[in-house]
Amino acid sequence: MSSSKLQEVRFKCQQSGHCCCDPKIIVTTTFLDMYNLYQALENDFDYLLKKISFYRIESDVNLVSRKKLVLSSIQTSEGEIIPSLRKVKASNCVFYTKPNCSIYQSRPQACKNYPITFLESKSKNQIIWAKNSQKTCPGIGKGKPLSLNRLIQEKKTTLEVIKTHNDLIHELNTEAAKGEPLTAREVLWMFIVYAEKFSSPKEG
Ligand code: SF4
Ligand code: SF4
Repeated sequence: MSSSKLQEVRFKCQQSGHCCCDPKIIVTTTFLDMYNLYQALENDFDYLLKKISFYRIESDVNLVSRKKLVLSSIQTSEGEIIPSLRKVKASNCVFYTKPNCSIYQSRPQACKNYPITFLESKSKNQIIWAKNSQKTCPGIGKGKPLSLNRLIQEKKTTLEVIKTHNDLIHELNTEAAKGEPLTAREVLWMFIVYAEKFSSPKEG
């Protein structure tokens, strides 16, 4: 991964579809992404489950590797998992319908941000390019410079959602450690219930 100063960033998607079909890209999803997908699929929870994979984390993965995970892994009765978008035909995202995304308005935040990742960086004026994106994404360097204010706002929003997501997982894992982990299906349903509360206007 490499970084650039915010004011240097030029990007315009060329609709190559590469990021939607790259076997090395796994789109992991936050509770909010799951809620947006649920709504895009007309609140059909069983249908949503068919679009999701559970990326399994082996129990012997060490602490250093765990710390590199952007979204924390979840302890369930079926093992330690991270929900992600299912791949079909070996490497295509389940929502990819050449040349477009079939749920474009509701796509996960990671897709909206790509080829930028908005991971924590030492300087708030730096962005991190997604791994290999500078070699594979033909949109980088195209178009006008992106709005600095918009990038700063998107970075802030992304990091806030990731923190809220990981705090929620921490609570779930604490409960699971007491002896009664949820199933993967129950976890996804909890995401949706939690996101409904999170997204509704705050009182007062
Ligand atoms: S790889 Fe880049 S240019 Fe191609 S679809 Fe993805 S974001 Fe757009
Ligand atoms: S959700 Fe849409 S934008 Fe994201 S990888 Fe799938 S097809 Fe591409």
